[in-house]
Parts: sequence; C-alpha cells; structure tokens
Amino acid sequence: MNPELLSRLPQILFQIGKAIGSDELLSTTLVRISELVTELCGAAACSVMLANPEEKTLLGKAAFGLRRPDFTTVSFRYGEGIAGHVAVTGESVLIDDVNSDSRFASHSDSSHIRSLACVPLLHRDVVVGVLTVTTPEVGFFTSTSLELLALVANTIALDIENIRLRRLAQTDSLTGAYNRQYLEHCLPDMVAEAHAGNQSLCVAMLDVDHFKRVNDEHGHDVGDMVLAEISRRLDEASRSHDVLVRYGGEEFLLLLPGANLATASGIADRMRVQLANNALELKTSDTGARLALEVRISAGVAELGPNESPEQLFKRADQALYVAKANGRNRIEVAEAP
Ligand code: GH3
Ligand code: MG
Ligand code: MG
Repeated sequence: MNPELLSRLPQILFQIGKAIGSDELLSTTLVRISELVTELCGAAACSVMLANPEEKTLLGKAAFGLRRPDFTTVSFRYGEGIAGHVAVTGESVLIDDVNSDSRFASHSDSSHIRSLACVPLLHRDVVVGVLTVTTPEVGFFTSTSLELLALVANTIALDIENIRLRRLAQTDSLTGAYNRQYLEHCLPDMVAEAHAGNQSLCVAMLDVDHFKRVNDEHGHDVGDMVLAEISRRLDEASRSHDVLVRYGGEEFLLLLPGANLATASGIADRMRVQLANNALELKTSDTGARLALEVRISAGVAELGPNESPEQLFKRADQALYVAKANGRNRIEVAEAP
C-alpha cells in the first residue's frame, strides 16, 4: 500500500462519516462512500451490494468508477461469484487475477477487471452486504488494501444497517411508497421550508377510481398487485425530488416541492393519462393467468398558501379530490387559493 494513500486515511474516514451523517438517500450516500473508498485504495472502481437475506441474494446498490451504468440492476445469489462467496462465508477475498479464479462470475463488461478485493459488511456477525474494489491491473491489491477495506466496512456496516432500517420504517411494504409515519414529519418539514424560503409547494391527493370493483372481480391478491403496480407507475411519472406516500388503502399523496399549481396539476394529469392509456399487465400468482386491467385515478391538487399549515393544505387537496370524484372521476381538480 502506497504510504501516501495511507496518510489520507483519517481524512477519508472523516469524509465517510460526513456522508453517513448527511440527510441524503442511502443510495446517494453509498455512491459517495464508493468514491471515497476508490480513492483510498487507489482502485479503479468500488461497488456496494446489500444483502436480501430472505431471498439469499445480493443486490447492487451503488458504485463508483464502474463502466456499466446499470449496476443497481445487478444481483447475485448467495454463493454466486466472488461477492456471493463472501456473503456465504463472511470472509474477505483478495484476487490477483480474476482470469485464473473460477469463482469470478463475469458480467458482459467486466473485461477491464483483473484484480479485486472484496470484504463483507458485517452487522452482529450477519452479512448485510459486501464492499468490492477492482482494477484492470493484475496483482494490484495487497493484504494492507484488504485491511483498509475491512476497516471501512466495519465503520459503515452499522450505519448502513441503521439507514436501511430507518428507510424500512418509513416505507409501505406493499407498494414501496413512503408511509404515513414518514408523511407526519416530512410534510411539516416541507411546509416550513417552503414558507422560510418563499418557495412553492404543492400536494396532490390521488385516489384509484372504483377500486373496490377490482377486489370484487379479481380478489384481494390481484388488488394488492394492482396497488403495487400503480404505485410504481406514479413513482416513475414523478420528479426525483417528489415524495410519494401511500396515504391509505388506495389513496396516494404526492408532495411536490418547488412546483406551482400548473406544474403540479400537469404532473398529476400525466399520471392519470399514463394509467388510463396503458392497461396494467399482471400475472396472477396462483394460476399464472395474464390479466390486463384498466385503472383510472382522480386527484385533487392544492398549492401552499401564505401562512398555511400542513393540515390546511392537505385538507384543500382532499376536498379537491372529492370534487373530482363528484365531477365524474378520471380527472384532476385544482383547489382554489386559501
Ligand atoms: P371511488 O372511485 O369512489 O374511490 O371508489 P372505490 O371503490 O375506489 O372506493 P372505496 O373507498 O369504496 O373502496 C376502496 C377499496 O379499496 C375498498 C378496500 O377493500 C380496498 N382496499 C384498501 N386497501 C387495500 C389493500 O391494501 N389491498 C387491496 N387489495 N384492497 C384494498
Ligand atoms: Mg377509490
Ligand atoms: Mg379511497
């Protein structure tokens, strides 16, 4: 290990602590950590995979320096490839040349990887993920690299687990959207920020039209699948900093910081049209039969008024939704200014 790199260790650990302490999303934090670890080890790339113990898989969560942009779609079964091996054994692996290691499961574009070091992220002796550094040079990493990597892994494993648990506690398990507990502090925060910075903020209350019929006609399980798919589509049609909350059964609340009424109702209408024009394609889990279901949504949109409270804003959006239902459904209504 280059002594110059080693001398940067305290500074890099400090930066890692800063990244962990930040309010960023877990994936953003992990990309930053990957960048810092790449620098620390003098590597070409670093990646973080997190474990899904129920399914015995590792999922690509963040990477820095990798050529493939789609690392977050990579998954390994436990036992598969080097990462899968580390997940099973809980032991670090150092490889001088992947071409002479049978465990290396190559991806379509891994030709530029020759040597690597991979360590487990351990929390209470359970593997919660793996951290990997790679380079195109043969025999690049040393046992010191591995020790350094293990040190970083120990530093971040508990924090990663905490961030993950926090995110889990804020998430609705069926749809992956945020839940009401999260809304309870997120909406007041957003309202306070909007007032303080004189910024616009809109909320859209969305409700699936005649959703009861889906359950009645196809059963509750299909109803659940429909809700999960609707949530995925809503999320896809929202902007990166919008927050999608599953407010209740088949009701979603979308928080749109920075959006004025025209933008927000445009986004809500885009969601409505996307759903109305593209039937949901589902495969039932029991018979495997394919179903195409048409769903419609209605929404009420409200923009935060001066001095308005989160409760008042929410109530106006909800009332606008009620108007949308009364006016025939499959439509967006905009709340009048308070
Ligand atoms: P409207 O257009 O007036 O909104 O009609 P609707 O049928 O959507 O409204 P209603 O409130 O009468 O019914 C909502 C239904 O949503 C009833 C309930 O069984 C169903 N539901 C709520 N939560 C879930 C869930 O988690 N899974 C499933 N499958 N159904 C749910
Ligand atoms: Mg409904
Ligand atoms: Mg409803």
